Amino acid sequence: MPNLIRLLMLGLCTSPLLAQSPSGGFALRGTLITPGGIVENGTVVIQQNKITAAGAKVKVPANATVIDTHGVIAPGLIDLHNHLTYNVFPRWRPIEEFGSRYDWQQKPIYQALIESPHAAMVADGLECEMERYAELKAISEGETAAVGSLANACSMGLVHNLDTEDEWHVAYNVFPLQMTETELTPIRQKLANHQLHAFLIHLSEGGHEDASAAREFDMLKGRGLLVPGVSLIHGVALQPANYVEMAAHNVNLIWSPRSNLELYGSTADVASAKNAHVKIALSPDWSPTGSAGLLGELNYAAAWNDTQTPHLFTDRELVAMATSVPADLIGASDRLGALEAGREADLLVIKPEGEAKHDAYWTVTHATAAQVMLVMVSGEPLYGDPDVLEKTGPSRPSEKIEVCGSSKTLLFTGLHGQVDAADETWAHSVSILQTALRHYGRDLAPLAECGQ
Ligand SMILES: [Zn+2]
Repeated sequence: MPNLIRLLMLGLCTSPLLAQSPSGGFALRGTLITPGGIVENGTVVIQQNKITAAGAKVKVPANATVIDTHGVIAPGLIDLHNHLTYNVFPRWRPIEEFGSRYDWQQKPIYQALIESPHAAMVADGLECEMERYAELKAISEGETAAVGSLANACSMGLVHNLDTEDEWHVAYNVFPLQMTETELTPIRQKLANHQLHAFLIHLSEGGHEDASAAREFDMLKGRGLLVPGVSLIHGVALQPANYVEMAAHNVNLIWSPRSNLELYGSTADVASAKNAHVKIALSPDWSPTGSAGLLGELNYAAAWNDTQTPHLFTDRELVAMATSVPADLIGASDRLGALEAGREADLLVIKPEGEAKHDAYWTVTHATAAQVMLVMVSGEPLYGDPDVLEKTGPSRPSEKIEVCGSSKTLLFTGLHGQVDAADETWAHSVSILQTALRHYGRDLAPLAECGQ
């Protein structure tokens, strides 16, 4: 039975109804961020799950629903470093800086505030609730694809879960140096014959001065993992010479500045990485010490960039580090990361605020979650301002939430009606998680930080 019908039968239509996507697709008008640059007064045409045209002069199908957004339309943000189920926990503000991740992961305070309740909630069977909450949190921050899921264990069709070997050919590992040869051999083989497009691994996560984190680069080489397709997450302790070697072997960097600076007081030497022509993607890590999502991490990276003399990145480069670069790092440039015909219709519309002198790239790197007008995943409008979602048409169950004082509509039932828990609503998920967290003396983390 189609999931939508199951939902209707379960009587969950007390929430406002939004229409099924019209068969004629959508034409979204606004300022476009395209591979060639900014296109003022542009149009993106979406048919089913794909972008069929994007530009200043495109033919709009007669039966398409035309929406004048007056906003900035960007490719959906692609998050290559997250630990989704941990994002139900409020911020952790340690009163000390740590040498490396091996230090804080052992601390009783971390165990009490995060690790023990996380393990207990997972043991209680709440991991899918936790993941759904985190995926909606990611969407509210402009993300349309993320790693760090439970590998389809509870997919609801919210964001694309990228770390699935069968669909996206991406593998993700937090402790690669602990992997056995039996585990690593097939990964190296699949990378070599392109069955696996990317292996995203945590490495050298500690302060600049941390010797153990620095040594991990040599250990990685010893395991035969300095090979194309590998991207190193964090790399805080990497030295300039390491980046030269990485570039020579087409090994990339995934940069998570906020979490690094909050835990270790330093972050990766992205100046040396850029200088060595290492490809750099930006990601939030997780919300307890990183940003609530990729839009927040873009804000953080832009603020950090402003403290560098000269500025290391342009706003355009920062936007690329959250869109086209991560698509490239996972070998999915033909599917994701650009407003271009043939790509997946994953996009983000932002309401411009601030002075008119700023361009669309600046708008994206300085936008708050309140400014997110629309997030579309594979052509499905899942989240955004009520008036915009209304225009996508009136008969799917939707819910209203408040983000930073701004009212938003969400379609929690997800992509193409793929629902593995048909009786699930956002309100129900939130209430389950609040009750569970209260048991451990914790509150449910907010979706966004609202500039705090
Ligand atoms: Zn991580």
